[in-house]
Amino acid sequence: MTFTLPAPLDAAEDRALPDGSGLTAFAGHAADRLRRTDAALYDLLNRETARQNSTLMMVAASSVADPSVLACGGSPLGNLTAEGYPGARYHGGCQVADEIERLAVQRACTAFGAQDAIVQPHSGSSANLAVLTALLAPGDTLLGLDLDCGGHLTHGSPASVSGRYYDAKGYRLTRDGLLDYDQIRELALDHRPKLIVAGASAYPRTIDFARFREIADEANAYLLADISHIAGLVAAGLHPSPIDHAHVTTTSTYKQLYGPRGGLILLGRDARRAGPERGTLASTMRRAVFPFTQGTPDLASVAAKARALHHVAGAGFAELAERLAEGARAIAERLTERGLRLVTGGTDTHMVLLDLRGTGLTGDVAEEALESCGVIVNRNRVPGDTTPVRTTAGLRLGSNTLAARGMDRAAAAECADLVADVLDALRAGSGTLPEAVRRAARARVAELCARHPLPGYLA
Ligand SMILES: *Cc1c(COP(=O)(O)O)cnc(C)c1O
Repeated sequence: MTFTLPAPLDAAEDRALPDGSGLTAFAGHAADRLRRTDAALYDLLNRETARQNSTLMMVAASSVADPSVLACGGSPLGNLTAEGYPGARYHGGCQVADEIERLAVQRACTAFGAQDAIVQPHSGSSANLAVLTALLAPGDTLLGLDLDCGGHLTHGSPASVSGRYYDAKGYRLTRDGLLDYDQIRELALDHRPKLIVAGASAYPRTIDFARFREIADEANAYLLADISHIAGLVAAGLHPSPIDHAHVTTTSTYKQLYGPRGGLILLGRDARRAGPERGTLASTMRRAVFPFTQGTPDLASVAAKARALHHVAGAGFAELAERLAEGARAIAERLTERGLRLVTGGTDTHMVLLDLRGTGLTGDVAEEALESCGVIVNRNRVPGDTTPVRTTAGLRLGSNTLAARGMDRAAAAECADLVADVLDALRAGSGTLPEAVRRAARARVAELCARHPLPGYLA
């Protein structure tokens, strides 16, 4: 592949937009300037858009944002430096930004029935870091789900600040892959953590946040609910909400909220209770984001969150959430019928965890073979997995993007059949996928993508 350096912007070519053209003209104009001045980058971006259109995205940690969400993220609002919060900024020129951030906060509260929301975290990880640093002193104890049981890096893994700067204890799953609340209670009473984290990156079943709060209260600990994966189901009322059970709730915005990359901190009935030092729990969280762990917010991203949250709080979202939950159930049922084994035997969410032990396949080989067919999934460790982290004995599948494509139960089951067919052929070929199988699978992917185009995207 050859790359050419971008040509300098030619002043003669550099036409301005007429006054009052608006954002619509700006977006086209901006893309056109990129095309004219940096063909290499423009081509790469086009290739990526085409890839997304023509593959089946079944990574559980992803979704697809409406083009209107992406338009917010690419707007000139991103130029604004607006350190601080609405009404209390450290820079001028923030009147519009203040209205946008207040709108995002209001929509977050509406979508989740929350009392307060902080919309500035750059990611779910930054949101968690802010909460940890606000509620714990270095060396304090926290209790979270072990990484190899489906916990997130920020829940106490030694590979993250959360496990390096805090005394992290982990709870594990039962042999059936379920949360073991008696064990969590025992560990909480033994270790007396200052914070318990409820939430996971690879757990397909309902989480009992009320039970977590009982345990936290008994152990005199704070409860952080991290709903990064299930935020859409929570907002739609299809998973019990932690908002009034947890002291603080965090989420990523690009997973089940179909938003931009970013994070949120949400507070429920404990929002106005006293924090560990001065002020309320809510004001403690605000300070924890800025100035404690972040600098200036990205207002374009805040606007994109506001746009996504408007959709989440709107009437149509329940239907989408219902479709994604049904899609995951259909995938789980079909894979089981096809003789594959699932962690916990099924799903209550958007996520299906496939346990490949006993198939002769590993997660890495399966992931690569599926990708060569246009089906994108990710290798994942399963409870009791003894393979290396880059190998793994499992696959994690999710239905967020399939649902956004409008796929119903039958279409989701077709996707599951496609996965099962590829895995069967891979097993028969001892880890090598026959070319004819790959060709046939790619044709089915192309047909499914054409029948269910990404809404609002160019084909
Ligand atoms: C994805 C995820 C995060 C981190 O989100 P980023 O926005 O990618 O930093 C945090 N917690 C859980 C449980 C997650 O699944």
